[in-house]
Formats: sequence, C-alpha cells, structure tokens
Amino acid sequence: MITSQILHTTLKENFGFEKFRSNQEEIINTILNGNDTLAIMPTGGGKSICFQLPALLFPGITIVISPLIALMKDQVDSLKANGIAACFINSTQTETEQQQHIENLKNNKVKLVYIAPESLSYLDNAFSVLTISLIAIDEAHCISSWGHDFRPAYTNLGYLKNRFPSTPILALTATADKATRQDISNQLNLRKPTVFISSFDRKNLSLEVRPALDRVKQIIDFIESKPNDSGIIYCLSRKTTEDLAEKLSKIGINAKAYHAGLDSELRSKTQDEFINDQCQVICATIAFGMGIDKSNVRWVIHYNLPKNIEGYYQEIGRAGRDGLASETILFESYGDLIQLQKFASQGQNAEIQLAKLERMKQYTDALSCRRKILLSYFSEIVTENCGNCDICKNPPAFFDGTIIAQKALSAIIRLQESEPLAVIVDFLRGSKNAYIYEKEYQNLKTYGVGIETSWHDWNQYLIQLINLGYCEIAFHQQNKIKLTPLARKVLFENEKVQLNTVQKANTSKTETKET
Ligand code: ADP
Ligand code: ZN
Repeated sequence: MITSQILHTTLKENFGFEKFRSNQEEIINTILNGNDTLAIMPTGGGKSICFQLPALLFPGITIVISPLIALMKDQVDSLKANGIAACFINSTQTETEQQQHIENLKNNKVKLVYIAPESLSYLDNAFSVLTISLIAIDEAHCISSWGHDFRPAYTNLGYLKNRFPSTPILALTATADKATRQDISNQLNLRKPTVFISSFDRKNLSLEVRPALDRVKQIIDFIESKPNDSGIIYCLSRKTTEDLAEKLSKIGINAKAYHAGLDSELRSKTQDEFINDQCQVICATIAFGMGIDKSNVRWVIHYNLPKNIEGYYQEIGRAGRDGLASETILFESYGDLIQLQKFASQGQNAEIQLAKLERMKQYTDALSCRRKILLSYFSEIVTENCGNCDICKNPPAFFDGTIIAQKALSAIIRLQESEPLAVIVDFLRGSKNAYIYEKEYQNLKTYGVGIETSWHDWNQYLIQLINLGYCEIAFHQQNKIKLTPLARKVLFENEKVQLNTVQKANTSKTETKET
C-alpha cells in the first residue's frame, strides 16, 4: 500500500519538490491502482512527474512515448541528474546504441525509457521478456487528426492496450477539447479511463483581438514599446515568417524566422538563441514551440487567425510560464478567414475543421469576456469576468437577455439537441422552409416564439450563449447544438443572462472604445 506519505517523500527526495501541484497526486494514485488515465494539464502544469514518480515505485519499466526526439536527451539527462536510471531510444542513435539500451532494459538497469512512436518497433522483440509496469503517452493529442499536431505514427499506438492488457496507460496532453479527448481515449483503447482536467485558466495572460489593419506597423509599435521583452509572432505561412522577420530586422529589431522548411541546424540555433535571450523575436509557424521551455516569453502575437481554439490557446500559453503578466494579441482579418476556410475544406475531416474554425471566428467576434469563452471551450465553467481581456477592459453595452436565453435554450430542448445553429434560428423565427415542415417542427412548442427578432440577431445571441457556456457545438455530430449543465440554471432556476446588444455586421470594434 503506497501512502500519501511515501508519495511526498519520493517527490521530495527524487525531484526536490515540497508539494504536489493540482491533480498530480490524484493522477499518480490512479495509475498506481492500475487504472487507465487521461490527464489534461496546461503546458508547464507538471505532467512529467505524473509518470516519472510512479516509474520509481513500480517494479517494472515505464515506457514513455514522446514525439519530441529533440527533447528526449534533455529529459533523460535531467532524470539522470536526479539519480534516476533512464534512457531514450530513437532514430538518431546507431543500432549498437539502441541494442545496448535494450540490453539494459532486459537487465532491469533502467526504470524509464523514452521512445518515439516511430521507433517503438525496436522494442518488439524485447517486449516478451520485459516487465512493463506503465505506458505513458505524452502529447497524446497527436493521435487525433481532428486536432492539430497530428502524427500518423501515433495512430498505431492502439495496439499497446491489446498487447499489454493489464498495464495501465497514462495519456497526457495540454490540448484537448471534448471531441479530441474522446478520440484519444477511443484510439488508445483505454479501458474506462479516469479523466483529470486541470484548470486551464492562465490569469497572467492578457487577451486582446485587434483588426488586422496595418498589422506590421502595429507590431513594430508594440515591440518598440517594450524593447527588453521577448516574444513570438505566429504566422500562417513560412513565407510570412521570413518576410516579417526581414521587415523587423531592417528597422533594428532582433527578429528571426522559424519554420519546418528551414534546415534543422538553423532551427535549433534559432531556438537556442531565443531561449538564451540572444534573439528577441521569433516569427514562426506553429512548428515552433512544442516543448520549448522558456519561462520569460512576455508576449505572443498571432499575425494570422489561428485554425482553431485549441491551437490558439496552446500557442498563447507559451507566454508567461513564469506566472508574470504577459500580453497576447490576435489580429483578425477577413482575408485570413477565407484562406483558412479554403484549407479546411480541402483537408481531412473538413466538416469538423470548418466548424472549429467557425468557433475561432466567433471568439474574435465575441462581445463577452474572452477568457470565459476560452475556458468554456475546454468545458471549464467560470462565472466571473476576467478583467484582463479587451472586452472586460472596454465592455460593450449589454442588457437583460434572460427571456431570449430561455427561448433559445427551450428551442434546443424541443429539437432534442439534434439540430445545428441555423435550424434553431429558423425554428425560433417560425420559418416555413421545407426542412422545418419535413420534420414537422411547426407543431412543436416554442416554434416561432422569436419571430420579432431578426435572423442575424438570433444567430448572434446563440453564439453569445455558446460563448457564455450555456450550450455547445458537438463538432463530430453534424454540429448539433447541445445544452450544457449551466443551461438548467436558466431554464429552471431563474438565472439571469446578460447579453450584449448585437452590433451591425462590419462595425469595427475600435469604434466602441469610448467609454
Ligand atoms: P508539462 O510537461 O506539463 O509542460 P513539466 O512536467 O515540464 O510540465 O513541468 C513544468 C515545470 O514545473 C518543470 O520545471 C517541473 O520541474 C516543475 N514542476 C512539476 N511539478 C512540480 C511540483 N510539484 N512542484 C514544483 N515544481 C514542479
Ligand atoms: Zn475578460
């Protein structure tokens, strides 16, 4: 029986930490009890301890599957520095080196082995003679082609559960909305996993969305106003990263481009310079950042609209890991939206990608606290406005929208949570279109109760209700609108809902700045 006392002693003696962070101890206990576990924790939240510590307490080996070959060495070195026997196996090693590590595993000389998913087959022959106590799958969202960072090799990992049915699997990730979580769990064949979701709230990050007009000038002004602060500018294309880095360099800002098309030597040089404060600004594609441990990134700018909220939240999360105030700015442009829509519609899972993009767009158009929107996207319900986003700082006018909310949420119930947004609006407005009649929706209660409100306004109100967390879009169920538990409060407990007055399309947000 492993007591909390033992866990704390192990934490202190092997890792030098006094206490566990949120969810770490609970996750470790679940694994030690042999259960499959899905741990969702923000970047910097302390995921590594969740498998490194149990690895020390288990009799056998812990396999850590990680996509980040470049970081394996650092992780293993730091474990060794703490006196923990660890090794890594990947394609950068010679066959002799790999064989040596496998021998060490067979002889129980190693507790933890880091391995890239592509390299797992190296262990195939050894599997039958190894005692494997835990399989940890880091960056588990790479398994899902619905999210970003999809790694085809991850999709093969499902066989691990079949091969080692009694070995607990711990899947870890910093980015997973509901759909992705489900996908991870399904694809890895997890057995009734216990799911831990840490709070994703990063209060020290300010949130701001700006129109993209003259964005280069805006960026230059911003950087020049804080010459000692370093930051990342995310761009959609490789070419933009290079063009922007060049423009900034020309006027004396120490900026470099980073993208997957550059040769790996240059990439790691740029990365090192940034980490060591020798380069102030990185203009990068989303290839930059996964696993980069730099605590004093003071700002993150999105030059282009991100593809989805998961990616956006992970990218801004690279700022302020030291907990100090940090700024994030997203530039929204209609042109970007059109281009991303085109990409999404041509790619895999087009429907889901488009819906996620739409959600991103709704975030930029939002009239309520942006942090609430982000957190509700990750199913985290917060009631207070954050005070640290542009909307909280310059709130638009709002009114008592309780009746509107009640009508909309009742309509969603009447339609059995099985219709997308547009049908709900048609239903509320008493539309006589063919689909409504085909489904005989005109006979249901609440049909047409919202006839006095325009289609555009209903659409906006529903988006606000989604952003406020009262309902949500089920991306992999034809974008049906579902209620969240919060909706009950409005429908049955008289909760008041504040809605924002709907703005006319194309009204620039900056015009409402006056207070
Ligand atoms: P993640 O993988 O979730 O991004 P890491 O496991 O790399 O995060 O941990 C982030 C940082 O927090 C590391 O420097 C780690 O040593 C530190 N850390 C983790 N757990 C604790 C703890 N219980 N107490 C103090 N520091 C911790
Ligand atoms: Zn806010």
